[in-house]
Amino acid sequence: MKKLTGVPVSKGIAIGKALLFLDADFPEIPRFRIESNQIDEEWARFLAAVNEVKENVKSLRGVQESGAGERDDILNAHLLMLEDVEFHAQIKKQLEDNLENIEGAVWGVGHEFYQMLMASPVSYLRERAVDIADVTKQILNILLNIKKYSLADLTEDVIVVTRELPPSEAVAMNKRHVKALVMGAGSQTSHTAILAKAFEIPAVFGISAIVEEVAQDDTLIVDGDVGEVIIKPTAKKIEKYREIIAQASEKKHGQEALRDLPAETMDGYRVILNANIEFPDEVEQALRYGAEGIGLYRSEFLFLNTGHVGEEEQFQAYASVLKAMEGKPVTIRTIDVGGDKIPLNFRTIEEKNPLLGLRAIRFSLAHPELFKAQLRAILRASVFGVVKIMFPMISGLTELEEALSMLEEAKKECRKKRQAFSNNIDVGCMIEIPAAAVIADILAEKSKFFSLGANDLVQYSLAVDRNNEQVGNLSQPFHPAILRLIKKTIDDAHSAGIKVAMCGELAGDPAAAPVLLGLGLDEFSMSASQIPLVKQIIRKANSEKCRALAKKILTRKSAKEVEILMKEEDSQS
Ligand code: PEP
Ligand code: MG
Repeated sequence: MKKLTGVPVSKGIAIGKALLFLDADFPEIPRFRIESNQIDEEWARFLAAVNEVKENVKSLRGVQESGAGERDDILNAHLLMLEDVEFHAQIKKQLEDNLENIEGAVWGVGHEFYQMLMASPVSYLRERAVDIADVTKQILNILLNIKKYSLADLTEDVIVVTRELPPSEAVAMNKRHVKALVMGAGSQTSHTAILAKAFEIPAVFGISAIVEEVAQDDTLIVDGDVGEVIIKPTAKKIEKYREIIAQASEKKHGQEALRDLPAETMDGYRVILNANIEFPDEVEQALRYGAEGIGLYRSEFLFLNTGHVGEEEQFQAYASVLKAMEGKPVTIRTIDVGGDKIPLNFRTIEEKNPLLGLRAIRFSLAHPELFKAQLRAILRASVFGVVKIMFPMISGLTELEEALSMLEEAKKECRKKRQAFSNNIDVGCMIEIPAAAVIADILAEKSKFFSLGANDLVQYSLAVDRNNEQVGNLSQPFHPAILRLIKKTIDDAHSAGIKVAMCGELAGDPAAAPVLLGLGLDEFSMSASQIPLVKQIIRKANSEKCRALAKKILTRKSAKEVEILMKEEDSQS
């Protein structure tokens, strides 16, 4: 038995047999010189192969299933690459100038593009390198007439173990039979990780030696909750994990029964539990887990995969979410790009300190036409339900006022075009920069609600990069400074008569629920699958006791002291 640790990218536990999916890397690519009279024929072969790949890609799109949104985004990105003018031009140049056979030209250019993207300091572009390699390989498979074994052909349950699974294979795999996915490469933000989460397949990435350590048909336990893979576990270990799986599924069933019950404490104190979404098709999942609304729609994800997204396309996306939510409120956060989230058409922007740079509302205010197009799209969609608009990373009153005046301009433009919109749209701001929490009383005068972005509030208050695992231990949501900022925000908001939500990860942490409730939080927004667990905790709580707990916690001097106190309280209850 051997245990390996990697990055947990998709939750759940699976036990099964390993399918070592060793990328049948390209065979030796034949590279030779051609005669100039063969150029046209070679070019025609290339175009035919590209067309065939395009048809294959298109046939994978539009199949209705969970995760279809993310899958289609990736396939759309592949279609764009297949039509990329520069990619075609470089290959043609290779043919004409160097008289290289088409397989050699495709391989050479694809490799060059891959290297260029991999060398980028922007992680989003490095992730796209996988896509270009994927598309190149698909073209070569056709040119070389290689019929590959595909994960779409699986007929029995397996745990896929691979060095790197390109998104095109992940979307095509027979998901019914893939019980878990373990990869040598990959991060939380790679396309394949996004797909694993969307398909609810447990996954652990980033175990670089995984394909050397695992042999075909080895029994594996994959724990996507903590990021562990156990190779050839003992019978005792398997038994233990079977029990954990059974308990988890029992718990899940128990929690699902809570779906239609209110998030109310034993003494009748009611809060709202909402879901966070990144893509429109996650609404189905949100409703399934009992979300009362969408507390955070991260609209920037619409932009990241496809580059330019026009007003019409945005309108369709927002309208589809509002329609599917059937009158339940949907809080659309205007795009939070910048940092590590750069849309394709703004990829030239480089910053030394991107997390302190042109992010979120700053980016939107710096690109007024893009911002107004988004606001018009939201306004037009507002007739299909109850929409709220939220501005990310507000640091002061002037920014909030500028954003509000953009919204007024967008309204004027809609009126001019006789485009209808709701008169009842609440507009609020995220409190995720310490400065905003400190002046919450001032911001409350111009806001209809607040939403605490705990992820960034922790990052910026404690000066801890949330993506840097080396300082991960300093990322402490129970640090007294964070608790005080949360309390001040809630108190100021309540004094001004407005409600406060939280949409950072802390809102979905069951251990934090009694404390947040005690501090007076009105709405919790989290990954849909966390809702039942948090609801269960809230329904067993007593609001008076939660308030007393919060009061006590605020007297503690460090995150450690807070955690000790919470453990003590937990063992007493
Ligand atoms: C947050 O910062 O807590 C938040 C919800 O926004 P994001 O995670 O998208 O930055
Ligand atoms: Mg944030």
